[in-house]
Amino acid sequence: MAALFRRSCVVLRNRSCFDWRSQHTKAAVQHERKLGFSFELTEQQKEFQATARKFAKEEIIPVAAEYDKTGEYPVPLIKRAWELGLMNTHIPENCGGLGLGSFDNCLIAEELAYGCTGIQTALEANSLGQMPVIIAGNAQQQKKYLGRMTEEPLMCAYCVTEPGAGSDVASIKTKAEKKGDEYIINGQKMWITNGGKANWYFLLARSAPDPKTPASKAFTGFIVEADTPGIQIGRKELNMGQRCSDTRGITFEDVKVPKENVLIGEGAGFKIAMGTFDKTRPPVAAGAVGLAQRALDEATKYALERKTFGKALVEHQAVSFLLAEMAMKVELSRLSYQRAAWEIDAGRSNTYYASIAKAFASDTANQVATDAVQIFGGAGFNSEYPVEKLMRDAKIYQIYEGTAQIQRLIIAREHIGKYKN
Ligand SMILES: Cc1cc2nc3c(=O)[nH]c(=O)nc-3n(C[C@H](O)[C@H](O)[C@H](O)COP(=O)(O)OP(=O)(O)OC[C@H]3O[C@@H](n4cnc5c(N)ncnc54)[C@H](O)[C@@H]3O)c2cc1C
Repeated sequence: MAALFRRSCVVLRNRSCFDWRSQHTKAAVQHERKLGFSFELTEQQKEFQATARKFAKEEIIPVAAEYDKTGEYPVPLIKRAWELGLMNTHIPENCGGLGLGSFDNCLIAEELAYGCTGIQTALEANSLGQMPVIIAGNAQQQKKYLGRMTEEPLMCAYCVTEPGAGSDVASIKTKAEKKGDEYIINGQKMWITNGGKANWYFLLARSAPDPKTPASKAFTGFIVEADTPGIQIGRKELNMGQRCSDTRGITFEDVKVPKENVLIGEGAGFKIAMGTFDKTRPPVAAGAVGLAQRALDEATKYALERKTFGKALVEHQAVSFLLAEMAMKVELSRLSYQRAAWEIDAGRSNTYYASIAKAFASDTANQVATDAVQIFGGAGFNSEYPVEKLMRDAKIYQIYEGTAQIQRLIIAREHIGKYKN
C-alpha cells in the first residue's frame, strides 16, 4: 500500500514537472511579454495556482490549527509539497529543478500561505537559503547543493542575523579566517528559519579583520554542510505566530569550511546576501497577501452569517465599509508583489518595487487580520476560530527579511536617488 502511494506520488510529481517544464520555454515567455500589459495568467500559471490552491485547501487547512498548537515541524506536508513540485521552484533546470521565475513562485506562495503561513514559511525559507547559490554559485556548487534538493525533500537555511545584529547586517561579528585551503568559522547566528532542519546553510561571515574595510568587501558568503563538526543547534524558539516554522540560534565553533564553498570569492558576501532579497521579498509579500486574503474571506463569510440588531453584520454599513477597506488593501498588495516579481523576471532591478511590496503587503496582512478579528467580535479573540491565528501569524511579516522600517529606508533611498541623478 505504502509502495503504491509512493509510486503514484512520483508519477504525479514527474507529470507536473514535465508539463510545467515543457511549457515554460524562453520563447513562450518572450512571446507572452510581447503581448504587452495584461492581467491574464498563462495556462501554465493557472495550473500552478490551481495545484497550490488544491493542496492548501485539501491538505494544509485541515491540519494548520493542530500544527499551530503543537509547534511540530510539518514534515508530511513538506514531503507532499516537494512531491507536487510546489517547493524549490527556483532551482535551475540544469540542476534538476523547474527553473521558474519569481512571478510564478509568488503565485504558488500566495496560495500556500492562504492555507497556513507557518507551513508556507518553512517551505519558502528554502528559497531564501538557495537564492545566494542560485545568484552567485558556480556550476559545481549549484549541481552539488541545489541538485541534491531535487532528489529528496531536504531543507536549507539562510544564516545572516546574529544576536547583536539584524537590521544592521554590516555589524555581524561571525568571523571567517583563512587557514590553508580552509576557512575557520566562529560566531553565533540567531532567528534562523529551518535552523534545526537544514541540510546545509548559506552563511555570511566577516573575513576582513580590519574594521575600516567597507561592507562591500568585508564579508564572505559560504555554503556550510549542517553536519560539519563544531556546529551547535540551539533550542526551537517559541514564537508568537507561525509556530510550526523552525526558528533557532546556531553556534559555529572552529567550523572548517573548504575554500571550494566560498560563493564568488572572498569579500563578495555582503552583495550576495543583500542581492538575495530582490528575489525573495516578492514571495514574502505574496505570503502576506495569502494571509490577508484568508482573513478577508473568513471575515466576510462570518459577517454574512452573524446577525445583530435583527440583520446580518454585512448590512451594517460600518462593517461593510470595513470589508471594503480590507478588500482594497488586499487587491493593491497583490498588484505590488506581482509588479516586483515581474520586474525581476524581466531582468530589471526591482529593489524599489520589492521593498514597496514587502512593506505594503506586510502592513496589509496586519491591518486586515486585525480587522477580521474585530468583525468576529469576541469569537475573533478565541482560538476555536481561525482569525486569532492569522493575527499572530501576520506580525512577523513586518519583521523578517527586513523590517517595516528598513523597507522604508530602502524605498526612500531608491526614490530620492532618482531625483539626484
Ligand atoms: C521568526 C523569525 C525568522 C527569521 N528568519 C531568519 C532567517 O532565516 N535568516 C536570518 O538571517 N534572519 C532571520 N530572522 C531575523 C530577522 O531578519 C531580523 O529579526 C530582522 O532583520 C530585524 O533584526 P533585529 O531582530 O536584530 O532587530 P533590530 O535590527 O535590533 O531592530 C529593532 C527595531 O529597530 C528598528 N530599526 C533598526 N534600525 C533602524 C533604522 N536605521 N531606522 C529605523 N528603525 C530601525 C527595526 O525596524 C525594529 O523595529 C528571523 C527573525 C524571526 C523573528
